[in-house]
Amino acid sequence: MSRPEKFIIDGKRLDGRTPDQLRPIKIEVDYLKRADGSCYLEMGKNRVVAAVYGPREVHPRHLQDPTKAIIRYRYNMAPFSVEERKRPGPDRRSIEISKVSKEAFEAVIMKELFPRSAIDIFVEVLQADAGSRTACINAASVALVDAGIPMKGILTSVAVAKVDGVLVLDPMKEEDNYGEADIPFAFLIRGGKIESIALLQMDGKMTKEEIKEAINLAKKGAMEIYQMQREAIMKKFIEEGENE
Ligand code: UDP
Repeated sequence: MSRPEKFIIDGKRLDGRTPDQLRPIKIEVDYLKRADGSCYLEMGKNRVVAAVYGPREVHPRHLQDPTKAIIRYRYNMAPFSVEERKRPGPDRRSIEISKVSKEAFEAVIMKELFPRSAIDIFVEVLQADAGSRTACINAASVALVDAGIPMKGILTSVAVAKVDGVLVLDPMKEEDNYGEADIPFAFLIRGGKIESIALLQMDGKMTKEEIKEAINLAKKGAMEIYQMQREAIMKKFIEEGENE
C-alpha cells in the first residue's frame, strides 16, 4: 500500500464515504460456546472476536485483590491479520493497546462486587484495517454484557483522523497510516447518553479547535455504534426468550 495522492475527492473518501460516515458494522453476540460471553464484530474490513471469562478465581492467588475483581485484557493480532505477516505473540504495540483498553474497562465494570476474582477479556484480531483497537473495545463491551458482568454503562469506541486537512470519522488503513493525525476514543455511555471519555490516544498534530471538533465527530459516531451494540444484544436476548 502506498500513500494516496489525495484522500478526499469531491467530498468523498477513498472508499466512497463522506467524512462523517462510519464503515459498515456487523455484530454477532454469543459467537463462542465456551466463553461466558462473546462477540464477533466487523468494522469495515476489521474482523475481531472477543471472549469474556469470569468472574472467576484468580491464579496465582497472590494476584487476588480482597476489595475488588482484577480486570485482565489481552489484545492479540493473528499473524495473518495484516498485509505483512505479524510475528506471533505480544509486542510493544499489543501490550500498550491491552493496557489502555484494560484501564478503560476498569472505569465501567463494577469490580467491587467481585472481590478476589478476575474478569478476563480476550480480543483476537483476525483481519485488521485500522481501528482494530476500537473494533475490539466495541466487541469486548458486547461480550461483557453477554457474560452478564455488571457495568455502569457500555464502552463504545471509534477513531477520528485528519486527512487533507479534513476530520474524518472511523479512518481506514490509508487514512490511518498516511493521515496527519489519528485519535482513537472510547466513551462511557450510560442510560443512552455519553457520560465520559474512557480512552483517548493521539498520534500526529491537531489544533485545539480541531480536537474539539474531533470529539464531537467521534461522539456522533459512537452513538451510532452504541445503537448497533444495543440492537445486537437485544436481538440475542429476545431470541433466547423465544427459545425457552
Ligand atoms: N498494522 C499492521 N501491522 C502491525 C500493526 C498494525 O499492518 O504490526 C496495520 C493494521 O491494519 C492496523 C493498522 O496498521 O489496523 C493501524 O494500526 P494502529 O497501530 O494504528 O492500531 P489500530 O488502528 O488497528 O487500532
